[in-house]
Amino acid sequence: MRILVTGGAGFIGSHLIDRLMAENHEVLCLDNFFTGHKRNILKWLGNPNFELIRHDVTEPIRLEADQIYHLACPASPQHYQYNPVKTIKTNVMGTLNMLGLAKRVKARFFLASTSEVYGDPEVHPQTEDYRGNVNPIGIRSCYDEGKRVAETLAFDYMRQNDVQIRVVRIFNTYGPRMLENDGRVVSNFIVQALRNHPLTVYGTGSQTRSFCYVSDLVEGFIRLMNSDHTGPVNLGNPDEYTILQLAQTIQEMINPTGEIKYEPLPQDDPRRRKPDITRAKTWLGWQPTVPLKEGLTRTIADFRSRITGETSGNALLADTIGAPSSP
Ligand code: NAD
Ligand code: UDP
Ligand code: UDP
Repeated sequence: MRILVTGGAGFIGSHLIDRLMAENHEVLCLDNFFTGHKRNILKWLGNPNFELIRHDVTEPIRLEADQIYHLACPASPQHYQYNPVKTIKTNVMGTLNMLGLAKRVKARFFLASTSEVYGDPEVHPQTEDYRGNVNPIGIRSCYDEGKRVAETLAFDYMRQNDVQIRVVRIFNTYGPRMLENDGRVVSNFIVQALRNHPLTVYGTGSQTRSFCYVSDLVEGFIRLMNSDHTGPVNLGNPDEYTILQLAQTIQEMINPTGEIKYEPLPQDDPRRRKPDITRAKTWLGWQPTVPLKEGLTRTIADFRSRITGETSGNALLADTIGAPSSP
């Protein structure tokens, strides 16, 4: 098949492309390199089955594809709040354009939505039927509400235009290739511990999250895309940890004598989050297989090699430090 992956040079997108290339598909990777990077897909450049397109999804584009995985959107609060108007444009106009494309070429359209559609949830764990508790005017709204509109658009294109859609709600996912300056909790703690800096726990650290390793997530994507189910389907690891527990686990693995520094809790930070994955289990026979410690070991090894390169003056990494490049 010819498969378009938007956001393909990003963290999850590049792991998805590795799987699709290994399965001998023809892959079009579309990205504006806001938080994505060419080095994530470097090994496929020059492969006749691979094509890289530098493009911003907020602008229309005409391409041909059988399937579209639509991931283009910054995912870390630090990055999506950097230019919130751009984030909402990416979610609304970008998703509209990709649905218009799917309609024109009769491609199956897969939306990478998020557990953020549940906001600060009042139902725990979260099932797909829960409609969420989202602040429409807060600093996370450009992302949360943007993804909610993206889901609405997908379902309306299905009802109105017969576009085949697949919608996943991704819970916190981690793994190799996250940026050092990503700002999300797993990468922050690992980078801080490796640099012998204090780990920054926001609030008291009693808020919870569930962390899914990226290869498990990609397996779920491929199963849903090729199933007869539309979704939405939660994909995530149901093992729930407090942020303080995560900090202690990472500290023990890297730097047991390191410090923890408490910083203010950001506005609208969800207090608890854990997926109910009954739907993924029954529809797709899917559940995560990589335990937290094992996934962290692999992720730490990846960061360690990059951070060692950085201290020895590796120029390739210099552009990942500081603000993301302007979109
Ligand atoms: P990422 O920031 O690494 O990847 C996003 C990619 O999209 C980057 O390559 C970026 O350059 C590209 N992009 C952003 N705006 C674009 C635009 N306007 N046009 C073209 N390309 C654009 O983040 P990720 O963690 O890989 O997330 C991928 C998708 O999964 C996102 O849609 C995100 O909302 C969703 N998601 C991720 C998580 C998670 O825990 N990682 C959780 C929930 C949802
Ligand atoms: N679009 C696109 N590529 C295509 C087809 C459509 O980028 O191959 C864009 C199109 O420019 C429009 C959006 O997708 O902005 C929605 O398209 P649709 O045909 O659904 O709506 P219309 O163009 O009629 O408003
Ligand atoms: N967090 C933290 N220290 C950090 C980064 C994040 O304590 O250095 C907390 C953050 O407040 C949130 C949780 O970790 O409660 C997960 O944050 P992340 O940004 O990874 O994802 P999200 O809030 O979108 O789930």
